[in-house]
Amino acid sequence: MNETLRLGSIRGIRIGVNWTVLVIFGLILLGLATVQFPLLFGDLPPIVSWMAGLVAALTFFASLLAHELAHALTAQRYGVRVDGITLWLFGGVARLRDEPPTAGADLWIAAVGPLTSLALGAVFGVAALVAGLLELGIVALGVLGWLAAINVVLAVFNLVPASPLDGGRILRGILWKAHGDRHAAAVTAARAGRVFGFLLIGLGVAQVIFVPGLGGLWLALIGWFLTNAASAEEQHAHVQGRLGGITVADVMTPDPIVVRPDITVASLLDDYVLRNRCSAFPIVDVHGRPAGLITLAQIKHLDPEQRVATLVSDIACQDDEVPRAHPQEPVMSLLPRMQGCTNGRAIVVEDGHLVGIVSPTDVTRMLELTELLRGGHLPGARPPSARPGDPTIR
Ligand SMILES: [Zn+2]
Repeated sequence: MNETLRLGSIRGIRIGVNWTVLVIFGLILLGLATVQFPLLFGDLPPIVSWMAGLVAALTFFASLLAHELAHALTAQRYGVRVDGITLWLFGGVARLRDEPPTAGADLWIAAVGPLTSLALGAVFGVAALVAGLLELGIVALGVLGWLAAINVVLAVFNLVPASPLDGGRILRGILWKAHGDRHAAAVTAARAGRVFGFLLIGLGVAQVIFVPGLGGLWLALIGWFLTNAASAEEQHAHVQGRLGGITVADVMTPDPIVVRPDITVASLLDDYVLRNRCSAFPIVDVHGRPAGLITLAQIKHLDPEQRVATLVSDIACQDDEVPRAHPQEPVMSLLPRMQGCTNGRAIVVEDGHLVGIVSPTDVTRMLELTELLRGGHLPGARPPSARPGDPTIR
């Protein structure tokens, strides 16, 4: 989820909002100010409902942020790097850069979110009680009561054992701990997520048919989002299961053909592209150090008449735009970085020297190989089930 506006950062965690948050904020404010609060407040003027709605909605988004911050800070405690938190249409997301290291970490990083929401629900609930006892008025009671209820609802909904909801992650952690197989656990939690998503779509459609209002549409939309996210997670878990234990060195094309940055595009075409079968060429400087990468797609975008006058370095991806990997790095940790300027390619560097290149085709080929030789041995690569140093059980 892209960040439209950055709000700041807490302990190195970027906090931002996507513009779609305005939609959900508007819906909540509208519901509170025009339906719920007027019913509760009776004869009080509409401006009171609007002001109370604004305070309640803003405090709710602060509660949501606290929920996500709990995930992010716990993740950091387990050594998991956090890219940031974004509030958007369906609430909040804390973007973790690494996978949780253990089943226990997976479980706790997930559980602290709903626990935070439950705690906030309790705090607002007690505050509402106190407001009632002190006779602070119906407005304070209404706002605090709603905040208590919505935080509890948020916690309960998130505890449904279906990925990508927190409950799904908790289920994954428990199954992982019980059976020792992280990927199988992730697949089960993601499948539960798809089932739950379809269930919500069904409920939403039924509500649209039988109950007036937009509630059903919203439910179906959440269901659709969950189904998609769960499917993506299941696929990711499958890939992870198959590529686990496979390093960048196993999939890379070693010693790729390299070009200098100061040759023209015309000579690149004549001397390299037409003589080789590669569709991307890493660029190295006079010292042999990586200095970018050029792809056929970039050459295609250049006007043919400009080829003689244009240098490779003028149109190539610059060095800082080219994803880098170490040969011994797990290929799974490289995958998320294989995007941007290079059309999915990454260079492999060891001790400052270019030793290989990885393209999406290399990864797909390895996936097909592991599928083909499941249970057997991969030529030149270890089977995914046996990591080096793992004890072999027979
Ligand atoms: Zn959460």
